[in-house]
Amino acid sequence: MQKKNRGRLFIVSAPSGAGKTTLCQKIIKKHPQIKFSVSYTTRMPRKGEINNVDYTFIDREEFKRMVSEGKFLEWAEVHGEFYGTSRERIKSLIEEGFDVVLDIDTQGALQLKEKGEKGVFIFILPPSMEALKQRLVRRMTDSKDQILRRLKRAIEEIRTYNLYDYVIINDILENSIKEFEAVIISNRIKTENINPLWIQETFLNQEV
Ligand code: ADP
Ligand code: 5GP
Repeated sequence: MQKKNRGRLFIVSAPSGAGKTTLCQKIIKKHPQIKFSVSYTTRMPRKGEINNVDYTFIDREEFKRMVSEGKFLEWAEVHGEFYGTSRERIKSLIEEGFDVVLDIDTQGALQLKEKGEKGVFIFILPPSMEALKQRLVRRMTDSKDQILRRLKRAIEEIRTYNLYDYVIINDILENSIKEFEAVIISNRIKTENINPLWIQETFLNQEV
């Protein structure tokens, strides 16, 4: 039995602290047909993070080997650590018909755009710089120094918003979830995403 639609890639970027992780987790929990692309990283796991669920944690040597073997669809250095999207993982999820959310930085999103990778590009903004600062402070995962560095980097990342197809201003979380869902649903019903083999099997090959 053919699937009705093809899986799509949803590429999500945001300045650190805008609420991208919160938003992506809510969406994935609510929609079983959407899977999260588990990236490889050289950074240490944070408290509560699970290997192969949040990230696959590897050392720099293994990361470099994977780069040289062409295993990554895109990869980048962020805050002094390496992060990469596995070509193989994405391919198998898409072939199984899942929509896949890629939580990647703006350098990685730019690489995918330049390669002509098909996908829906979503940028998440905080409502203001002050709100971004407050969220980083309240999250309590970064030192004062790191927060300052993240805020400086935020300005550079926000400059690239024009590259994306959609911008979600994450002010009230419930509204942002609705906007994210609207993007997913409207893309699912795009003609180019309907499986022609399903049309063939379900209608055109039927005897009347
Ligand atoms: P990111 O993944 O973009 O770095 P997080 O999802 O970790 O950001 O969110 C940063 C902090 O902001 C967290 O403490 C989270 O609970 C909070 N947060 C996320 N979305 C909102 C929102 N819409 N309003 C207020 N706080 C939010
Ligand atoms: P964190 O260490 O806070 O989880 O992530 C830091 C940054 O790395 C975030 O902006 C996140 O989107 C980005 N990131 C996570 N995985 C990947 C990836 O596979 N590729 C790229 N380019 N960036 C990633």
